[in-house]
Amino acid sequence: MTTEITPPIELISNEGVGDHFGHRAPVLDAEHIERIASMCPSETRVDHVAEASRDWWPLTMHWALQGRVPKIAAIVCRPTSVEQISLLLSYCNSHAIPVTAAGGRSGVCGASIPLHGGVILDTTSLRGVVSVDDRSLIVEVLPGTFGPDLEEHLRPLGLTVGHFPQSFDIATVGGWVACRGAGQYSTRYGKIEDMVIGLEVVLADGTVVRTGGAPRAAAGPDLNQIFIGSEGTLGVVTRVWLRCHPVATSERRAAFGFASFESGLDACRRILRRGGTPAVLRLYDAPESKRGQGGDGEVCVLLVLDEGDPASVDASMHIVDEECMSTPGCAPRDVELVEKWMHHRNDTSALQALTRKGFVVDTMEIAAPWGRLAEIFDATRAAMLAVPHARTATCHLSHSYLDGACLYFTFAANPPAEEVESTYTALWDAGTRAVLAHGGNLSHHHGVGLNRARFVREALGSGFTVLRAMKTALDPNGILNPGKMGLPIPSTWENANWP
Ligand SMILES: Cc1cc2nc3c(=O)[nH]c(=O)nc-3n(C[C@H](O)[C@H](O)[C@H](O)COP(=O)(O)OP(=O)(O)OC[C@H]3O[C@@H](n4cnc5c(N)ncnc54)[C@H](O)[C@@H]3O)c2cc1C
Repeated sequence: MTTEITPPIELISNEGVGDHFGHRAPVLDAEHIERIASMCPSETRVDHVAEASRDWWPLTMHWALQGRVPKIAAIVCRPTSVEQISLLLSYCNSHAIPVTAAGGRSGVCGASIPLHGGVILDTTSLRGVVSVDDRSLIVEVLPGTFGPDLEEHLRPLGLTVGHFPQSFDIATVGGWVACRGAGQYSTRYGKIEDMVIGLEVVLADGTVVRTGGAPRAAAGPDLNQIFIGSEGTLGVVTRVWLRCHPVATSERRAAFGFASFESGLDACRRILRRGGTPAVLRLYDAPESKRGQGGDGEVCVLLVLDEGDPASVDASMHIVDEECMSTPGCAPRDVELVEKWMHHRNDTSALQALTRKGFVVDTMEIAAPWGRLAEIFDATRAAMLAVPHARTATCHLSHSYLDGACLYFTFAANPPAEEVESTYTALWDAGTRAVLAHGGNLSHHHGVGLNRARFVREALGSGFTVLRAMKTALDPNGILNPGKMGLPIPSTWENANWP
């Protein structure tokens, strides 16, 4: 099986594709393009480059329907080896040419758009599983490998990585690592940062480094974690060693209905507190329960699924049952709801359909301690609904930990066409400010990209100094994915006018 990149929505280019942001960095001249093209398979045909210059950032789907991408790169490179990537980065670093890594381009924050033009470094030709160590449960995989191809390689060996994001079919291993992704089974298998054992990374000057490699270490800070979540701004990930697991021999499911979101939240908290780790633990607020989980507009539905060794699955599900059923007002629901969710969980067709009708639609996922979740749930929905043209702001809990959980908000608005962009930014401003003000963080797994760049300094506080220092040290010429994550860009380049 060989998975390919999936475009987010049609790019309508009747009169040629345009570019939303215009030029800001020095334009690549023909000599540079020729030299770069000689280093690895590359392409400069403008419609192909435009296609490679966009991702699934929902706002830009509106632009695509008008024939615009955020910014068209000068060239797309599709290297097939780490040596080619090293050569390419070394050259671009010497000539201050921007390089933006892109995998499946399924990011929803504009992280892989080449905001300052230059080179798109498409990693999807560097794909495949290199080795599997069954005894140690380690798989070595190249960054451009898509989820289905990785699992298809492992399943016949009786193994799985257990990372199943909703974008499983359209995202790559490199993108999972670069964005600190989370899969739908994360409560049992962990988030991607729990799965990475080691990395090979090419730095901005072309140096190839390896980090990690042991089950645990005490030789300084964990260098893997510098690159996990760095969204292509500190290096290009060219090889990943991931933990894997024996394929589950047992699976159990359950569904419950709660009288309020808050009482459901508390049941989830107590499940984790007692050591329950059901792979899937998803609590929907009343409107989302009604929309897709068989609710009546009052009840908040909790879906549970666990898999693994029968003994540990039974133990987890026993805890789940006890904690749910001891919650006042909680009752079991039809377990078929879990099967229904399994079938529809990766369907995104509503997003494209609503976008074509002119609706602004997006999701915002954050994490916070258990003690803050109920107030964030209330404050964030209220803030979003107060934005002019807002139609809906709903929420579910999707990933749980001992100390807190991820809340995933879905919001929609129906503004006049000329107010799409301003409504979109107003919704993000309102939602993010409410989350930060009530003790939540900026993102749980979608990352920062361009869309959330304006909030990074505030969200990281004094820690931002460390991130900026790492950027300056590892990429002194600022060539790697410039304009993202709120990091500084070379002083001679014009800043992005966003938002
Ligand atoms: C419908 C839908 C559902 C989604 N559901 C989930 C979900 O459940 N969980 C989740 O975590 N995310 C989800 N996402 C977001 C997205 O799929 C993830 O962020 C994913 O990890 C991005 O992978 P990608 O290969 O598409 O990366 P891209 O979008 O191509 O790139 C994302 C960022 O990673 C950088 N990057 C990519 N590859 C490399 C590399 N090899 N080295 C260095 N930097 C690199 C890029 O420069 C960019 O900054 C969803 C997206 C969509 C559209």
